[in-house]
Amino acid sequence: MTFTRPPWTAPALDHDFVHATGQVTDDLDPATGAVVAQVRQATAADVDTAVRRARTAFARSGWRNDGALRARVLSRYAQQLREHTDDLAELLTREQGKTLGEARSEIAGSASMVDYYAGLARAVYGRAIALGDTAHGVILREPAGVVAVITPWNWPLTLLERSLAPALAAGNACVVKPASLTPAITVAGLALLAADPELPGGILTCVTGPGHEIGDALVGHRDVDMVAFTGESVTGAQVMRMAAGQAKKVALELGGKSPNIVFADANLDKALDGALNAIFTTSGQICTAGSRLLVEAAIYDEFTESLVKRAGQLRLGDPLDPDTTLGPLVSASQARTVTEYISLGRAEGTLLAGGGEPQGGILSTGHFVAPAVIADLPPDSRVVREEVFGPVLTVHRFADDAEAIRLAEDTEFGLAAGIWTRDLDRAWRVGRAVRSGTVWINTYHHFYPEAEVGGFRGSGPGRQQGVDGLLEFTETKHLNFDSSATLW
Ligand code: NAD
Repeated sequence: MTFTRPPWTAPALDHDFVHATGQVTDDLDPATGAVVAQVRQATAADVDTAVRRARTAFARSGWRNDGALRARVLSRYAQQLREHTDDLAELLTREQGKTLGEARSEIAGSASMVDYYAGLARAVYGRAIALGDTAHGVILREPAGVVAVITPWNWPLTLLERSLAPALAAGNACVVKPASLTPAITVAGLALLAADPELPGGILTCVTGPGHEIGDALVGHRDVDMVAFTGESVTGAQVMRMAAGQAKKVALELGGKSPNIVFADANLDKALDGALNAIFTTSGQICTAGSRLLVEAAIYDEFTESLVKRAGQLRLGDPLDPDTTLGPLVSASQARTVTEYISLGRAEGTLLAGGGEPQGGILSTGHFVAPAVIADLPPDSRVVREEVFGPVLTVHRFADDAEAIRLAEDTEFGLAAGIWTRDLDRAWRVGRAVRSGTVWINTYHHFYPEAEVGGFRGSGPGRQQGVDGLLEFTETKHLNFDSSATLW
């Protein structure tokens, strides 16, 4: 059966909450090169307008003090996301290149995230404490103010909601800067929220455009109180430096090079599925990608052989086709970068799978890269040390727990890790030893709005999701009362 792409009507992206008066650029489908949408870019003046609107709305609208209002608005937004799953998922697949199945699960996850924070919007509790006979302290959690939410292109809606929903739930006003490669899905998702009749004007604004211009203008704006940034570690460090100039609060969710450790006593079938899911989800363009597979020596040959076989069975193709398991990479430049890493891996190690240019039909027009598995790389290879952000897995052999931990920890990042074993004591021991924000045991890539995520080391400071994810967007204030007759 041949699959035919359905016809496409580009979405209208002109909305009052989007501040953009600059040039219009074409937003391209990475599978076909067709125009998905036309996007007007913001200017520095637009950034100023958006931030000022947000500042005014924060100061005057009453949003920050009305948890019940915030809960209602967010709850309806979650519902809207669910009701528009079909349209949003198709737009996401066309713009980003991920498979339609993954796009649908991204919409569902986004709605669930918003729902979770809708619940917490009425639970931004402080504390009270007696400080002697006459003094009392009331510790309040207040919204940070105007929050710039800067998002990446790989999971553009989930990673948007992961910052936006808690920021709004805590009572902030938000200015969103979508990634340059995924403005259409971001604006389409936000439009559902902006249309809510109870959302005060200015509490949500958006500016589209390149990071080095529009992102910089936003981060450097004096009326932005906090920056929630998700993206590359190098960009995150730049954002941090710029924010430091104004001693501005930041939450940074950055890159990773996550180890996925398979012990010989694991359920190997499940671990194989887990290893493939860990690296090939979103064609490897995921911050938590289990890109370094560490396999115990006793099963290394057998496990690697099965893995290579299974990688070869993954179906590259049109991401709108339900039979496709791997879509294109997001852009020509991303595909070029990843291909260069594969060439380097081939030169420095043994290429067990992948390489070559996928050809035929859509594979020739789109930015496709076949899944690659590379062994025998030296520990200082750039392919082992740097975040590739593509379907490239390096495999490594270890002798015992100590060596597994040493290899896992031989990285500048600390975002995630996987451990596959039936030995509970070992799972605890290794899980505690690996310094990562998330450690999955006998699973991988399962996320829950209730559970915090974030990084150690180069993966960035800050936590998102869960209760900590809400508190990130607050400032702590102590109101101190004294009822004594004299000061001393
Ligand atoms: P990126 O750093 O290139 O861009 C992220 C966002 O920052 C975009 O909106 C971009 O326009 C903007 N930006 C770029 N330069 C800027 C500047 N100077 N000032 C302000 N904003 C600027 O990242 P990307 O390529 O979009 O996304 C991929 C990266 O994101 C990977 O490194 C990945 O690991 C990381 N990521 C991390 C997480 C996490 O939770 N830790 C999640 C997803 C992606």
